Amino acid sequence: MTDCTPRGDSAAAAVAAQTLRITEIFYSLQGEARTVGLPTAFVRLTGCPLRCVYCDTAYAFSGGELFTLAEIAAQVAAFAPRYVTVTGGEPLAQPNCLPLLGLLCDAGYEVSLETGGAISLAGVDPRVVTVLDLKTPASGELARNDYANIPLLRPHDQVKFVLCDRQDYEWARFQLDQHRLAERVSDVLFSPSHGQLEARELAEWILADNLPVRLQLQLHKLLWQDAPGH
Ligand code: SF4
Repeated sequence: MTDCTPRGDSAAAAVAAQTLRITEIFYSLQGEARTVGLPTAFVRLTGCPLRCVYCDTAYAFSGGELFTLAEIAAQVAAFAPRYVTVTGGEPLAQPNCLPLLGLLCDAGYEVSLETGGAISLAGVDPRVVTVLDLKTPASGELARNDYANIPLLRPHDQVKFVLCDRQDYEWARFQLDQHRLAERVSDVLFSPSHGQLEARELAEWILADNLPVRLQLQLHKLLWQDAPGH
């Protein structure tokens, strides 16, 4: 019997049948980065190879459920979002994150990826806005930064530093200069680690040094105190 399925359709079906381990898919306001405050669909992938001291998503380290990419896309579509954020955990720790990103871009969403910076960005769909964490000394995971990711950043991407203390701030300021980050990406975000550094103190340091960075407060923490599903 002749197989009448067009080659393109069968390739798309194979992609859609791939699976990812998912902690949660939900609709909320974006809590961070350039689209902060905008309604966004979130896909939180399970698992992370890092253990930052301030991690607020330890519930995503394990467990989760397997979904096909088609099932994930259908759940996202039910929210009729403009913005979709793929996050974790560390989403890039699961290789099938890459085809998911492409699938979501093909569906016409404005897709962002939140990544901890330890895994290569090579292969991330160029339509995706990557928000790359650089881990500071006080995060406990400084040694995991993959600096080879920096040349892979695109002008629409963003770099985030979560700062715990003055030493972290000095280190981030050095990285900003060393890698010319403000010229390389659209936004450099300095975020105070919740309960470790006062936002006002960080604001005053940024002003005193006239840094080309955006102070970022985590809206979802102010609104929902880190409850899962937000
Ligand atoms: S990279 Fe993100 S998810 Fe992983 S431990 Fe650090 S803060 Fe938590």
